[in-house]
Amino acid sequence: MTTTTRSTPDETYAPYNPAETEAHWYDFWVKHDLFRPESHPNFGKRPPFVITMPPPNVTGGLHNGHALFVTLEDLMIRWHRMLGDPSLWVPGRDHAGIAGQLVVERDLKARGLDRHDLGREKFLDQMREWMESYGHIIHTQMRKLGASADWSRDMFTMDPHHVRAVRTAFVRLYDKGLIYRGHRITNWCKDCQTVLSDLEVENKEVQGQLTYIRYPIVEREDTWITVATTRPETVLGDVGVAVHPDDARYRDLVGLHVRIPHVNRIGVIVGDDAVDPEFGTGAVKITPAHDPTDFEIAQRHGLPAINVMNLDGTMNAEAGAYAGLTTLEARKRLVAELEENGQIVKQEAYIHSVGHCQRSGTVLEPLLSDQWYLAIRSLAEPAIDVVRDGRIRVIPERFAKVYFNWMENIRDWTISRQLWWGHRIPIYYCDAPGCSEQWASIDEPERCPKCGGRVFHQDPDVLDTWFSSGLWPFSTLGWPDDTADLRTFYPTSVMETGYDILFFWVARMIMFGLEFTDQPPFHTVYLNGLIRAHGGVKMSKVKGNVQDPLELIQEYGTDALRLALTIGITPGNDFTLSPSMLDARRDFVNKLWNIGRFVTSVTTAEDRRQALQPAAARGQKTPLVERWIASRLSVVTAEVTRLLGEYNFGEAGRIIHDFLWDEVADWYVEAFKILAREDQADGALLAQVYEKALRMLHPYAPYATEELWQRLTKGAADRPRALMIAAWPEAADARDPAAEAAWSDVMAVTRAARTLRSDYHIKSSNAVAASIAARTPDQAAFWRANADILGALPGARLKPIDVLDAPDGAPADLAARAIAAVAGGVELLVPAEGLFDVQTELGRVTQELAESNGQVARLVRQLASDFRHKAPAETVDRERERLAEQRARQQTLERRRATLARLSETSQ
Ligand SMILES: [Zn+2]
Ligand SMILES: [Zn+2]
Repeated sequence: MTTTTRSTPDETYAPYNPAETEAHWYDFWVKHDLFRPESHPNFGKRPPFVITMPPPNVTGGLHNGHALFVTLEDLMIRWHRMLGDPSLWVPGRDHAGIAGQLVVERDLKARGLDRHDLGREKFLDQMREWMESYGHIIHTQMRKLGASADWSRDMFTMDPHHVRAVRTAFVRLYDKGLIYRGHRITNWCKDCQTVLSDLEVENKEVQGQLTYIRYPIVEREDTWITVATTRPETVLGDVGVAVHPDDARYRDLVGLHVRIPHVNRIGVIVGDDAVDPEFGTGAVKITPAHDPTDFEIAQRHGLPAINVMNLDGTMNAEAGAYAGLTTLEARKRLVAELEENGQIVKQEAYIHSVGHCQRSGTVLEPLLSDQWYLAIRSLAEPAIDVVRDGRIRVIPERFAKVYFNWMENIRDWTISRQLWWGHRIPIYYCDAPGCSEQWASIDEPERCPKCGGRVFHQDPDVLDTWFSSGLWPFSTLGWPDDTADLRTFYPTSVMETGYDILFFWVARMIMFGLEFTDQPPFHTVYLNGLIRAHGGVKMSKVKGNVQDPLELIQEYGTDALRLALTIGITPGNDFTLSPSMLDARRDFVNKLWNIGRFVTSVTTAEDRRQALQPAAARGQKTPLVERWIASRLSVVTAEVTRLLGEYNFGEAGRIIHDFLWDEVADWYVEAFKILAREDQADGALLAQVYEKALRMLHPYAPYATEELWQRLTKGAADRPRALMIAAWPEAADARDPAAEAAWSDVMAVTRAARTLRSDYHIKSSNAVAASIAARTPDQAAFWRANADILGALPGARLKPIDVLDAPDGAPADLAARAIAAVAGGVELLVPAEGLFDVQTELGRVTQELAESNGQVARLVRQLASDFRHKAPAETVDRERERLAEQRARQQTLERRRATLARLSETSQ
């Protein structure tokens, strides 16, 4: 973080400068060690609140997805710290396996090298160097976002401690017999040069071709069996043909043999239930080494598996003359050859789903290979139970169903990767002659446990990166050692992350947490939505639509960005971060600043010394607006606290925002100015209300609130060192429903007066005389008592106000010459004479009405026509809404024209 020279908070309230304020207060919090749970006064007295930060991949800078999780987690941590819970947020970084290796390999490629030129050790050195420099950048960015994480506990997934945790976990699972070597079809990425787990495969619909190829039947002259395939090159690895055993077309062919084209291998025709008689011709080729279903069929019928591909995606020696060609070249050449031999029946267009590599986008080859697997069933069952019985709660709840569905159908996890970067599999093979020992070891072994030989080698593969991050909530706290941190802070509290890694990560942490610590690693999973770019598309580096949070911070300030990321969001729902939203939130921060300037300028030092006191209920004798605001503060505090407790950060944020902007700034501050003129305003109350609002807003907008709070409370007795460690406000018992209802009436009449002014184009600078027709003596008394404040509120400017006792309604002679509105239970009348020219207004409204009538007629015609069937549903809905709005406008204009027509008669 850049250090800034900054004078002590000045009292001048020059326009808010986010960059300066942010750097200053972040340094202040760090200097006073406020992010560490040990600094909290309740440390050791109350159970801690703990979040493990999802370690960002060290593959570049942060994007807005990171900004979102940092903001949400920081919000929870700051809120709990204020609630009185010693709070710990554990930061970290992930080595990112494939993704990490890819970036560095790309870097090498630009220099004309590849990793084999360097060799494993040198390449790993480069990786570490790269991770070092980027890891540093990521942390700087997180600090800019205001993250109050305990940086002293930072961990990297390749740190020696975490390496030991990973090896320990592996060895325990291996010794339990849960990790095994499997010979199966896997998803191979020829570009990443590694196998992938099913989760890392993106299935995409592609336009392909279905090729019908006929194979001669060996035992019967001139008899053929036709199969259909989307990958003709795999014919070279065929070992036979399968049909459904009940398929009458082929029943008598089962047991006979076919001659495989080009390679002239003899294959067998088998009957197998896995064949779908409806697909293609009902007969399918069997290529066990390149298709998972074929592999299973081959196993059932004792057929061999013949691999025809190299790991780089070219054909191998088994492909005969096509060895060395890429799969696509081999496909083309083979189809031409078959065509020549009359073995192609037909080719047709075919849309089918093809697996692609999530990282590189490469089409994956299903390939038979030897990999390490984790038998997952026994880990999945308890992980299902803890969510089902509520020991772990998933927010939003709908994702629990998704979780169950995946966990109940879980397949063994391919944990090995053919990469260099990552946690190398701790399996060792003895190379001593005559000894074939294979063993797993937590520490680097010195000799073979069986023969004592010193010549052995380690498995070349590394572990899937999610194997390592699955241990994160407890490895970061010291596991496998029994540390004080592990005892104090584990299990953690909330796991906050994107719903897109529910299976990759969250499910694995739950399984590993239960397996290795016998406890669920957290009690709540909060899944955030994803930020979409404009137009609702997913952000990606390839599309070039990634928003850089640092640029947004520079333009809008951190608080505005954090507010834009939180106000109005709902868990698990995607949203778009638009420039207009960022503008609005920046305006709000400026508004907050301006309120601060006002509060300091109108309150006395003594008022401000009382700012930390609760804004208690006001007696009946105090001005209505003060009883109202004290009551509203109490309601808002209770509501915000409840919503935060329910993880409804979007709605809680909206309520604090609206309270500050609408109720405090637009009404209370304006009324305060009026009361102050009569020397009736309570400055201490103003300071108290503002102080409580700053506290509530702090988790959302930490910087501006800290700065404003420090200015406001300077000199207050017993104030905490910083707002970030001040107590969360309690909802003072100040509810006053009568005051709330009464002030609502004042606001309603004020709004009615503003509407009259704008409807009839009455200049806002002119005060106008008005009457209020009260139906009851109580009403009349109330409006007489509040006439002064009502008349002075901005936009209304009613003076004098004549409150009439009018049990039967407004007097007819007044009504005949006034414009009027019903609001707040009374009638507001403004005599029209001299305020505007009736004929001009009448002309204007008649014209507007004609225009509105035309719009209504056009929309009615359009909606009655073919349009409503032809246009997209949303367009039709929009036009319907437009019609409803236009009809409402039409009615308002008609009423106004009637009023003007009446005024026109009385004035003549
Ligand atoms: Zn790939
Ligand atoms: Zn040995």
